[in-house]
Amino acid sequence: MKDIKHFNATSVADAAGKLADVDGAAPIAGGTDLVTAMRAMIYPGTPDAVVNLKTIPDLAYIREEGGNLKIGALTTVNDVAASNTVKSKWAALAEAAHRMGSPQLRNAGTIAGNICQLSRCWYYRSPFNKFNCLKKSQGAVCYALAGDNRYHSIFGARNGCVCVNPSDIAPALVAFGATIVTNKREIAAGDFFEVRVAPDKSGLTVLDKDEIVTEISVPAPGSGIKSAYIKFAFRKAIDFPIASCAAVIGNGSASICMNAVAGIPRKATGAEDAIAGQNITEANAESAAEAALSGASPPAKNGYMVQVAKTVVKRAILACA
Ligand SMILES: Cc1cc2nc3c(=O)[nH]c(=O)nc-3n(C[C@H](O)[C@H](O)[C@H](O)COP(=O)(O)OP(=O)(O)OC[C@H]3O[C@@H](n4cnc5c(N)ncnc54)[C@H](O)[C@@H]3O)c2cc1C
Repeated sequence: MKDIKHFNATSVADAAGKLADVDGAAPIAGGTDLVTAMRAMIYPGTPDAVVNLKTIPDLAYIREEGGNLKIGALTTVNDVAASNTVKSKWAALAEAAHRMGSPQLRNAGTIAGNICQLSRCWYYRSPFNKFNCLKKSQGAVCYALAGDNRYHSIFGARNGCVCVNPSDIAPALVAFGATIVTNKREIAAGDFFEVRVAPDKSGLTVLDKDEIVTEISVPAPGSGIKSAYIKFAFRKAIDFPIASCAAVIGNGSASICMNAVAGIPRKATGAEDAIAGQNITEANAESAAEAALSGASPPAKNGYMVQVAKTVVKRAILACA
């Protein structure tokens, strides 16, 4: 068993410094994702050190400020789901948080950890690095391209990898036009996600090694705008989405984002164009959902995901009527 150094960060600057200085260091918050990856030894080399963010004071809060919802990075997913402030104007975000994992995971997992979580691709996650895939090793292959790809991207590869982004909260943040605040910059939620492959960091965000999410800022939707989050998973609890959709619709505008169908949360621009300014009906929700999935090219084993994704998009739109 390998020794892993553990640092309790006292401030964001302290955490960033440790991440910059210590080789192979990774930030840890609730640990519900990172610890399972480390324990299964999915990496060619496990992180040599973890920098505990939970010891940083004042990073867990939910408040409304200047018309925006501000959520501290260490806020638990459960607190987001249960917050009356979030439920009052950002229903899709509250519902996305509510649909994440199980009560135990929601109590331990944080909002920042949720959007920074690693890929669930079973080749990538295979214990003891059985498949040293493209995400982990330069020049290696994406095993899912030719292998068992039943839970993989139906919109092609990103950087050669066909994993999907599994976060429940990510599509809600993209649909609301949220901003992710880090110790270095502010990033639009729509620009925050990427499929990283070796020799780069193998995560699913654009964050630098020494970059830490500190806050999430979500603009308030105007009056008359409704939002909804719909997720399909094989099990009702403790299951990642097969496909999900967050919709924010009203006052002539529509913002719709799918997740778990591509490497990054995917804005359904065809659906937005089809539904913006319309009275929502069964018929136009159906044609908007068709538009959302136009261009899908599922690999051999997951053609079923196209119909699942269409259905979640349609239901998310109808829930905003
Ligand atoms: C059985 C099981 C079921 C699950 N089901 C779901 C599900 O249905 N939906 C879903 O979305 N997720 C699910 N998850 C994933 C995970 O539990 C959640 O995403 C959780 O919110 C992760 O938060 P955390 O604080 O525990 O993250 P951690 O495990 O602490 O960290 C996750 C990643 O984020 C990085 N990180 C953490 N905080 C920060 C920060 N502030 N800045 C920069 N990087 C950071 C870490 O380095 C790590 O790479 C599940 C996990 C398990 C084990």
